[in-house]
Amino acid sequence: MKVLGIESSCDETGVAVYDTAIGGAAGLRAQALYSQIALHADYGGVVPELASRDHVRKLLPLIRQTLAEAGLTTADLDGVAYTAGPGLVGALLVGAGVARSLAWALDVPAIGVHHMEGHLLAPLIEDDAPQPPFVALLVSGGHTQLVAVDAIGRYRLLGETLDDAAGEAFDKTAKLMGLPYPGGPQLAKLAEQGVPGRFKFSRPMTDRPGLDFSFSGLKTQVLLAWQGSDQSEQTRADIARGFEDAVVDTLAIKCERALDATDCDTLIVAGGVGANARLRARLVEMCAARGGRACFPRPALCTDNGAMIAFAGALRLEAGQHEDAAIRAVPRWDMAALPAV
Ligand code: ATP
Ligand code: MG
Ligand code: FE
Repeated sequence: MKVLGIESSCDETGVAVYDTAIGGAAGLRAQALYSQIALHADYGGVVPELASRDHVRKLLPLIRQTLAEAGLTTADLDGVAYTAGPGLVGALLVGAGVARSLAWALDVPAIGVHHMEGHLLAPLIEDDAPQPPFVALLVSGGHTQLVAVDAIGRYRLLGETLDDAAGEAFDKTAKLMGLPYPGGPQLAKLAEQGVPGRFKFSRPMTDRPGLDFSFSGLKTQVLLAWQGSDQSEQTRADIARGFEDAVVDTLAIKCERALDATDCDTLIVAGGVGANARLRARLVEMCAARGGRACFPRPALCTDNGAMIAFAGALRLEAGQHEDAAIRAVPRWDMAALPAV
């Protein structure tokens, strides 16, 4: 089954074709991504109306480009998947409107995909993918969640952040030390030059039982350290390293707890912060030490992309799930409410 996937929940327009007959990483026939980062940079964050308008401009050209790269035409498609939520409602409506109209015109089924299920399943696009049950760590710009995956589509929330998401904490911390938006990847790059241990920040909520997170206090600790410092380039790198180590440590401690609680040895990791090299190394090491393994998508499939939506949609379409001729946009949507596949 060849499925076109469309992602437009926030500030990236993503398009891909996934072919389940091929499967694995090779099943991803083509993909294209347009990031609106430059468009929103002057505002320090995503401006919803500008995001919607830019999806309108970019989506059809990206679909044409993706199909051409895959050597396919619209007549070859067996289904269309789009991000139905959660996300910015105007941005979602652009993807949903285009996807549903295309499916209707081609007389193929369409399905609205949960954006976080897309992230969660992204590691399974890679070859040698694990089978459930496993624990998923979702660490993106808007979410930090530990999820028990009993089967594809059966998700139990084990813990989540009570305030800032991990990616949001990276972005806000980077911003207060003067790095441009979105600061996560830049802060991680800076941390490579930092001296470990010169700045030591807390590992929030690891001193008590439970699987929830809280990252907003860490940002305040960094602010105080930064304001009280000489603000040199080296100090900025050292603080960045201290912050990254605190986040990575905290995530690793809670992941290990979640594996213990579910009696599981496989961890999958997805979402933008999953691209962080130090986090990847730390989780691989932690899982290996207990005889299990940690699985990640390639870094480009950690952040928003069309491939994860094509893949998640294809799994559901193959199971016979699809929608009637309605355009669905669900700004807030609980993943536990999804049907099993
Ligand atoms: P959500 O999926 O929750 O709606 P989102 O789609 O905006 O949020 P993603 O695209 O998955 O989030 O990830 C973007 C986030 O990942 C940003 O906060 C960014 O700073 C962070 N990020 C990306 N690369 C890295 C990295 N190497 N280290 C740390 N953070 C990173
Ligand atoms: Mg983004
Ligand atoms: Fe996302």
